[in-house]
Amino acid sequence: MDSQDAGERIRRAAIVWKGGKIVWVGSEDELPTGLDDEIEFDANKNMVVPGLIDCHTHLAFGGWRADEFGQRAMGASYLEIARKGGGIKSTVAQTRAASSDTLVNRCLEFLKEINKLGVTTIECKSGYGLSTADEIKLLNVYDKVRRLQRVRMVSTFLGAHVVPDEFESNPDAYVDLIIEEMLPTISEKGLASFCDVFLEDGAFNLDRSKKILEAAKKLGMRPKLHADQLSDGGGANLAAEVDAISADHLEHTSREGIRAMARAGVVAVSLPIATLYLRQPPLNARDFIEEGARVAVATDFNPGSAPSYHLPLALTLACTMNRMTPEEALKGATLFAAHAIGMSRTIGSIEIGKQADFTLVAADSVDQWFYHFVPTCVTQTYINGDTL
Ligand SMILES: [Zn+2]
Repeated sequence: MDSQDAGERIRRAAIVWKGGKIVWVGSEDELPTGLDDEIEFDANKNMVVPGLIDCHTHLAFGGWRADEFGQRAMGASYLEIARKGGGIKSTVAQTRAASSDTLVNRCLEFLKEINKLGVTTIECKSGYGLSTADEIKLLNVYDKVRRLQRVRMVSTFLGAHVVPDEFESNPDAYVDLIIEEMLPTISEKGLASFCDVFLEDGAFNLDRSKKILEAAKKLGMRPKLHADQLSDGGGANLAAEVDAISADHLEHTSREGIRAMARAGVVAVSLPIATLYLRQPPLNARDFIEEGARVAVATDFNPGSAPSYHLPLALTLACTMNRMTPEEALKGATLFAAHAIGMSRTIGSIEIGKQADFTLVAADSVDQWFYHFVPTCVTQTYINGDTL
């Protein structure tokens, strides 16, 4: 199941789970006696796929940035808008001003809808706080939300999203703050599994990114990287060098960068909704797959470049823009997405011993699901064997 192949399709399948974990899966005709007398649920001719995993989101943020949408249509670039005080910095101001309760309630509302789209696990980044207190506020919001609803959550610290205004004249002092104050505090409180950096012109350069990710690694936080989104900044090579678990975006990654990632086992995460909204040249997944890299697909849900949490939409786009087959796209939002968040041993496929996370889809094939895009194809989700 771990290779590029699509995994097995079983018609008239049966899945048995106990205590939230899968104990048997196969053709219904071969169901062993003794396992067939439990409580039964009929999938009613729906297709059953592993619970979807959105391995890259910025779920907690204040406000929206709908005003920028029209400006971009008139030709303003992402960086131009950022230089005029829009972009990430305007979300930072709105997020700092929002109370924890407001952010918690917003995340809960989002997750209710996200779960209806078949998502059973989600990765959530901080990065709109950019001060020690505000970054911790965001990670605490995720911790609280995790306990209030059922979608499984993994947190990533993204203090290095952009240099905040207070440090504009001295970005190195902000890097020091991340390394000397934010990372140790977050590590001590156990608030994040991963540390991410936005490596880009106008965000963090190669040296600063490396310094932050190396420091995070020493504290047990596995690196992730926003890499090569707007230009080839050497992000893929850096991801390989620091043993990142994933590098995400990669629209401008060179062939050599792709090879370095494949050799190092870094998961490539495609974010086609962001590519679409920013009108970037799309990542060509064929290049990554040819070189032996695993390609995951996620939404990048955020108020600027990807204001939609619709993961099945991202999967349709992965087929049309990234040249992935529907089966590759599905694997990119299940098993390979699980790899991208270090959880492939427990989730990401329907296998004995894994958590009983499934998504029921009213389509007769994966091809049909992503080809005939309907916003509400998912009929039910199970997390740890439960629908509630
Ligand atoms: Zn992102």
